[in-house]
Amino acid sequence: MIRALILDLDGTVYRGREEVPGAGTFIRNMRARGLRCLFVTNRANRPVSTVCEHIRSYGIPCDPPDVLTTAQAAAEYVGNRSAFVIGEEGILGEFARCGIRLDDQRPDCVVVSFERAFNYERMRRACDLIRQGAEFIVTNPDAWLRMDEGIFPGTGALAASIEVGCGLEPVVIGKPERRLFDKAVRHLGLPREDILTIGDNLDTDIRAGLRAELRSALILTGVSTRADLARSDVKPTWVVDSYPELEQLVMQEHAAPASTAGAAAPVRTDIRQPAAPETAAGRWIRELQLDRHPEGGYFRETYRAAESIPASALPGRYGGTRSFATSIHFLLEGRDFSAFHRLQSDEVWHFHAGDGLRLHLIAPDGAYQEIRLGLDAHLQAVVPATCWVAAEPVSPAAYALVGCTVAPGFTFTDFELGRRADLHQRFPVHFALIDRLTR
Ligand SMILES: [Mg+2]
Repeated sequence: MIRALILDLDGTVYRGREEVPGAGTFIRNMRARGLRCLFVTNRANRPVSTVCEHIRSYGIPCDPPDVLTTAQAAAEYVGNRSAFVIGEEGILGEFARCGIRLDDQRPDCVVVSFERAFNYERMRRACDLIRQGAEFIVTNPDAWLRMDEGIFPGTGALAASIEVGCGLEPVVIGKPERRLFDKAVRHLGLPREDILTIGDNLDTDIRAGLRAELRSALILTGVSTRADLARSDVKPTWVVDSYPELEQLVMQEHAAPASTAGAAAPVRTDIRQPAAPETAAGRWIRELQLDRHPEGGYFRETYRAAESIPASALPGRYGGTRSFATSIHFLLEGRDFSAFHRLQSDEVWHFHAGDGLRLHLIAPDGAYQEIRLGLDAHLQAVVPATCWVAAEPVSPAAYALVGCTVAPGFTFTDFELGRRADLHQRFPVHFALIDRLTR
């Protein structure tokens, strides 16, 4: 059953100053049937109240809880850390509301969004801070955005200059990555199988929906065409030309789960079957609000010390300040694995729940060690700094929930993902293991 819709805005609800035909009627009809409509936008420069006013200007009722922006998702990601922000009223207001301390000298993060006052000095400052150890975060990678005055270069263009300037890749909050949609799912408080995401862009809306494990509908009212669809490896659940067509599909699915829909409506092969009962791992992911980790599994940062260690007190390999310590929850299930990587700091793993986890460690001299975490094995394990490590559940039917504590604290700058070819060359004796646990 579909109980909520995540709607893109530009090209989906409106195009420039025009409503997309049928969008308002569709949204009103959906709400009348009890479906929640959440407008989710990659843009971070407008306050939520302004986004609401804009949506209302098309005659579509909208209140602040109906809107989610990347400024809100970025604020959640930054958490209690300090930030240097490239951005306008929307993100600055949201960060102020969340109590995020702005710092242009020694911030924990550099957050890049859309800013018309952006200039060479701002770019240089951002690059310096990132090189000194601040985490590089980008609200969205959009190359351009539509303003009342026309098409403007977007956040992605600004971020690209910083990425080239500092030589490091950012963490991306918005579509096509899944963090924005993961926040939307938590905001709605519903299981993923009850949510449909709707958008006009295959490469952003639909790709993010797939990454966030949501059903998706591509509506051909904006950027993407059927020709794009034919060329793309991204396949939405549904493709529709118009809102009346989408309404029919949503109502069929809303009224009757696919398993019982046969008598009432033709069974469509492109509708997923209802989800299986929630697994223990699924319950932890939901209850602990875990996000997909870029290198496998699910995680959420649970602690970051407020105090920092200055760069001058740390070994030179850090190249910047670090918080005293950080901790995360981390979950792996089934055939998923955490690929070989290494950190600059020792990492302490704590077993919490599930069947158990196998840690594979390769020391710089090639010495191999397997450590098993679980109730019947070790409850804690230390992975020394600079040791390559990969992790996997003890069997394809298993899962494990663990905690990982790092001191000095973690930043993505200190995370080095192992390249398969490099590791093969350095540790040929472990060829098969490296082959299996790298991507
Ligand atoms: Mg769009």
